[in-house]
Amino acid sequence: MTRKPSTRQLIDWDHRYLWHPFTQMQEWEQEEPLIIERGKGSYLIDTEGNKYLDGTSSIWVNLHGHRHPVLDRAIKKQLDNIAHSTLLGLSNPPAIELARELIRIAPKGLARVFYSDNGSTAVEIALKMAVQYWQQRRPEAGPKNTFLHLKLAYHGDTIGAVSVGNIDLFHSRFKPLLFSTLEAEPPYCYRCPLNLTYPTCRMACIDPIEEILKRHHRELAGFIIEPLMQAAAGMIPQPGGYLSRIRELCTKYDVLLIADEVATGFGRTGSMFACEHEEVTPDLMAISKGLTGGYMPLAVTLTTDEIYRGFLGAYVEFKTFFHGHSFTGNPLGCSVALANLEIFKSEKTLVRLQPKIKMMARLLEPLRQLPHVGDIRQSGFMVGIELVEDKQTKNPYPLEERVGHKVAMEARRRGLLLRPIGSVMILLPPLSASPSELRRMIEILRASIETVMQLSVSNQYSSPSTGPVAPLMSENKDVRD
Ligand SMILES: *Cc1c(COP(=O)(O)O)cnc(C)c1O
Repeated sequence: MTRKPSTRQLIDWDHRYLWHPFTQMQEWEQEEPLIIERGKGSYLIDTEGNKYLDGTSSIWVNLHGHRHPVLDRAIKKQLDNIAHSTLLGLSNPPAIELARELIRIAPKGLARVFYSDNGSTAVEIALKMAVQYWQQRRPEAGPKNTFLHLKLAYHGDTIGAVSVGNIDLFHSRFKPLLFSTLEAEPPYCYRCPLNLTYPTCRMACIDPIEEILKRHHRELAGFIIEPLMQAAAGMIPQPGGYLSRIRELCTKYDVLLIADEVATGFGRTGSMFACEHEEVTPDLMAISKGLTGGYMPLAVTLTTDEIYRGFLGAYVEFKTFFHGHSFTGNPLGCSVALANLEIFKSEKTLVRLQPKIKMMARLLEPLRQLPHVGDIRQSGFMVGIELVEDKQTKNPYPLEERVGHKVAMEARRRGLLLRPIGSVMILLPPLSASPSELRRMIEILRASIETVMQLSVSNQYSSPSTGPVAPLMSENKDVRD
C-alpha cells in the first residue's frame, strides 16, 4: 500500500499538474485550495477534516445529499454486473428501464430518450436533431437551420451550445467559431430593458420576440430557452405566463421549442420539471445535472414521437441520426439515475420540499433591507442575490472588484461553500437540506455580505482568499463517522 499523500503534498501536485475550470490559474497557484475528500448529507469534508455546508449542491447537481445509501447501493450493485457496455448496436437493462421511467415523469408528449454525458452534449443533440428533423420531415418548410435564444442565455461550453448562448465574458472570444443565431431580450425584470414593471407591463418584452418569429420563422429550426429561470445569467426568473406564451408562439410560427432543463430539472424549481409550472411540453428537452442525483455524469435529450418519426426510413435513405458518444447510456449512470427517481417516490422529495421553499423565501426576505442587496430572486431551491454598488441607481459593481468572490470567501471561512456569478450570490442547497441547515446557510450568507460590505465601505478590505481557511464549525466534526 502506498501512503496517503498529505494535504500539503496534494496542494503542491494540484498547483503543479491541474488546470481548473472557469479559474484564473495564476491566482489559483497563489491560493491554498480546499481539497474535498468526503461528503455526508449537506456537508463536504476536506482532507483536514473540516466540514462545510454545500451551498451550491456541488455546482447544481446534488439533490438528496452526499452518500445517500440508496444511491451508493445502486452503483455498487450495478458494478457487480458491469461498469460499461455500449448502446451502439447493443442495449443494457438500466438504460432501458431509465428511459421508460423518464418518459413516465416527463412533460406529456415527450416519448423518446437519447443519452449522452453532460448538459452541453444534451443541448448539442437537441440542436442537431432539430435541424435534421426539418430537413427530413418537412423539407417543404424551407431550410430551417438557425435558432432563436434569449440574451444572457447559457446552454453549455461546447461550440454549438456556446453559439446559442450569450454571456459575453464566457463567449465573446469564440465568436469566430460560432454559427449565427437570432437573439431576444430576456425578461430581466430587475433591469427591465423596456423600463416597465410586471404585471402592468403585460409582458411587453414578448412583442419583439413575436416580431422576430413573424419575420424569421421560415429559417428558424427552434427557440431554445432555460424554462422559468436563466440560471447562469445570475438567476433571472421568467414571470408567470411567460413560458406558456413562448410555447404558443413557437406552435403558431412552426418553430420547435427546446427546453434546456439541465439546471431546472429534477425538483430544483419545486416541481419535477420547470415546464410543469406552465403545463408546457417542449418539442425537445435537455436534462443532466440532477439526473443522477449529482452522482455521475449522464444526460438525456428527450423528444416527441413526431420528431422521432422524422428520422425513420429505409437504411439507404440515410435518415439515421449520426451522433453518439463513447459512454452513451452508461449502465452505472443509468442505475444511479433510476435510484434517484426511486428516492423522489420513497422520500416524497417534492412534497417535503414545498414548506422548505416557503421557509427559504421567508428567511431571505429581511436580506432585502441590506444596503447593497439590489434584488433577491428565487424559484424553488434556486436563489440569486444581486449585490449592487448603489441600490437607488442599481449601479452594478465593476467585475474587477470581485465582491461576489469576496463574499464567498468570507462564507467559506464561516463554513459555507458558495460559487457566485459575478456580483450575484447563488444559493442552491441540496433538496434534502434540513430546515436548520437552510437557516444556517442563510445566516452565514447574510453575515458574509454584511462583513464584506462594511469592510469595502471603510475601504480596508482585502480578499481573505489567500492563506489557509479556518471554518468555524469544528463543533460538528461528528459527520466524520
Ligand atoms: C450547466 C448547464 C449546462 C451545461 O451542462 P454541463 O454538464 O456543464 O455541460 C447547460 N444548460 C444549462 C441551463 C446549465 O445550467
